[in-house]
Amino acid sequence: MRDITCHKCGSEYYLTVHRFSGKSSGSVRCLVCRTGLVAWSNSTTAYSAKLKVRRTDHLKPNAGS
Ligand SMILES: [Zn+2]
Repeated sequence: MRDITCHKCGSEYYLTVHRFSGKSSGSVRCLVCRTGLVAWSNSTTAYSAKLKVRRTDHLKPNAGS
């Protein structure tokens, strides 16, 4: 397992690597800003990410809140 940081919002994730006998394609997106964190195509390696630190600094504060 290794860490990965969203380059857009800075949220931190634990990245888990999964290995399968069959090939697959997919991607993992940031839960905060929906930016793609990692993608794979026609590969026996897949990934999943678990949110460790949520950062919302990129979000504009709501007026009047
Ligand atoms: Zn993000």
